[in-house]
Amino acid sequence: MDPLLAAFLGALVGALVASLVLTYGRRRRPAPAVPAAALPERRTDDLRQVVKAVSSAAAVIGRSDDIVAHNPAALTEGVVRGDRVGIPALLDLVREVRRTGVAADTELHLNRAGRTPRHLAARVLKLDDDHVLCVVDDRFPTLRAEEATRDFLANATHELKTPIGAVSLLAEAIEQASDDQIAVRRFAGRIGTEIDRLTALVGQIILLSRLQGHVPAPEPVDVDAVVAVSLDRNRSLAERRAITLTTGGVPGLRVIGDADQLATAVSNLVQNAIAYSDARGRVVVTTRPEPDAAGVAIAVSDNGIGIAPADSERIFERFYRVDYARSRENGGTGLGLSIVNEIVSGHSGSITVWSKPGSGSTFTVTLPKAPEREGEG
Ligand code: ADP
Repeated sequence: MDPLLAAFLGALVGALVASLVLTYGRRRRPAPAVPAAALPERRTDDLRQVVKAVSSAAAVIGRSDDIVAHNPAALTEGVVRGDRVGIPALLDLVREVRRTGVAADTELHLNRAGRTPRHLAARVLKLDDDHVLCVVDDRFPTLRAEEATRDFLANATHELKTPIGAVSLLAEAIEQASDDQIAVRRFAGRIGTEIDRLTALVGQIILLSRLQGHVPAPEPVDVDAVVAVSLDRNRSLAERRAITLTTGGVPGLRVIGDADQLATAVSNLVQNAIAYSDARGRVVVTTRPEPDAAGVAIAVSDNGIGIAPADSERIFERFYRVDYARSRENGGTGLGLSIVNEIVSGHSGSITVWSKPGSGSTFTVTLPKAPEREGEG
């Protein structure tokens, strides 16, 4: 069982036992302070208090399947619907536990059309002849995160193996060709390329993991400066491919965020725009305020190879590449757009792509606008 759930249950059962001891302790006193008729009422109140203190979905079910006590999470998780148990399989389990008195742990997979699938971990416990306790946790978000981590690790390992394998083969080739100086130089050069690839890949994996869950400092950032840094970082690549870099739109805009991260995001988009354009293409970075004036849009356009609609939906996935060979040839890692996506969502912004195969692509990042400086507006 999940250790957290175990701890919760431990605390819950402890509290219930304490509540029972208190109730029965009071009963044994010679002159009860509470009239006998009020005892069931008091017990229900105790149960309500205990159930309320639990962060998992929790409910106490009475003898005729009625809900005696429940917390708000029991409603959101659908454990309680109205005054009944909302999940038929859970109700079956409640009845079985009431009959046998044996506590049960179970996992329920709920996959209803049009709803997010749910994977519930439920514990059902008989408290006494009148009360059965259910504690339920939705494990689906945790399982999905675990699956995403597993996929990422598998992909990252696979991607790392390629250059490592190449380096080891090239090292062998150098050993075998030790008398041939020209071959040795050629193999050494290729080792250098593979090491560069490895360095880029490791650097991007580290960057991606640093960005996850990191909330950027909310500083006002000059958009023109972000664009200038991004273009500078890519100028020599553009020159090598005879690609023109230009800017346009409205200058002097400011957004809220982290200037370094934003420069990384725009720079990745410019790098892709160059990499996926044919020689002598044009890459334009345009800035403009959004029509509702709450945001600023930074658009990176190229007249390159474009992206088919089916691929446009997947290019933000980690390691996804439309053309693996072209990406590799450009020194791509398949992580550039995932990094952009992570940075933009960390800034409460959004990213959209327009593209047409053979015509080009425009990636537009929209970010929250910084408040006007005093004396402006
Ligand atoms: P990569 O390192 O392969 O460039 P990215 O995550 O940056 O990885 O991009 C994922 C894929 O999206 C690329 O491999 C490429 O197929 C496609 N892509 C990204 N930007 C563009 C663009 N401007 N034009 C055409 N295809 C692009």
